[in-house]
Amino acid sequence: MSASNVVIAVRIRPESKIEREKKHPRIISRVSEDMLFFDPEPSSYHGANNVVAMVQSKRCPVRRRYKNLSFQFDSVLENATNEHVFKATAEKMLDPVFDGINATVFAYGATGAGKTFTMMGEPNHNIQGVMMLTMRDVFRRKQEATDKRIKVVVSYIEIYNEQIHDLLAPPVKGKARVLDLREDRTRGMVIAGLSEEVLDSADDALSIIARGTANRTQFATAANMQSSRSHAVFQVRIEQCDSTAAITEPMLVSKLSLIDLAGSERACRTQNKGTRLVEGAAINKSLLALGNCINALCHPPANGRRQFVPYRNSKLTRLLKDSLGGSCRTCMIANISPSGYNYEDTLNTLNYANRAKEI
Ligand code: ADP
Ligand code: MG
Repeated sequence: MSASNVVIAVRIRPESKIEREKKHPRIISRVSEDMLFFDPEPSSYHGANNVVAMVQSKRCPVRRRYKNLSFQFDSVLENATNEHVFKATAEKMLDPVFDGINATVFAYGATGAGKTFTMMGEPNHNIQGVMMLTMRDVFRRKQEATDKRIKVVVSYIEIYNEQIHDLLAPPVKGKARVLDLREDRTRGMVIAGLSEEVLDSADDALSIIARGTANRTQFATAANMQSSRSHAVFQVRIEQCDSTAAITEPMLVSKLSLIDLAGSERACRTQNKGTRLVEGAAINKSLLALGNCINALCHPPANGRRQFVPYRNSKLTRLLKDSLGGSCRTCMIANISPSGYNYEDTLNTLNYANRAKEI
């Protein structure tokens, strides 16, 4: 797989109120469009925050060691709008998708790092997320392709504790409808009984996404679960044929998956007990499985043997079997906080993203 099949972007969110108030030093220094330093020496800081870092290091009797690690990605985004993020990430998937290639966009990162802000935006504040911005672009392209008949079909699920919940189906007694994943000879991975909606416009998409997200919250409350522990998967299937083609002619079909992953923080950090521990393990299972698939894709066997990619190890990776690796396009948006308050989570996220670079 060539490097251009993967796009890795890091998004640094603004400091939160708590992070500012607690005066944690910043540990991320963006030095260019595609490079950042993690935990740099305070002297190498540029900008207002180095004052805080300097003061803190003087106060420390023993000067701590700085990791001073440099990371390079396709882009490092700071003070960026969701439109900027969309342009640097999901937009790059759309040419291939309209050429018939499957693609996946992940938002990865610890809880609170900005995944949902990135993917869903904040509709109440009129901020659109990458999902909606993608749907707008899909319909712009559909409208421009006057020589084609294009059908846009979407589904929206969440994976919680290795269970698939249909976010577009009405709840059964307040609970989510649980679905099975099957492999179909001709259609690839299919979720049996999944609700699908054919969309005619971006506004349709807006209401569908809102409906799914409302269900996600409602299921979570009803089942006493935390939505930060589930993966939300919005899939867009594009079916195309020439406007002159007979109905019986085969269509060009491709799929774009837009995913707000569960928080990547370790289960032990949240001091899980009882059921929460199982949940933590299930999340780790699918994030771990995703990491392992990505790692396997990074290191193809040298002697031309068929590559073994452990897709089967989780629902998420099984679902994405036809959308990861091969000629598929993958995009990861690694979300991080700039603050030392989240030191370990941020380092873990950067390492994960760095590994994915090599797919
Ligand atoms: P996650 O989904 O990774 O747990 P959220 O997207 O919910 O994190 O973000 C956590 C908080 O930070 C939210 O209050 C959100 O509004 C805020 N936030 C995240 N990213 C940004 C951003 N780029 N700009 C402004 N606020 C942000
Ligand atoms: Mg979230």
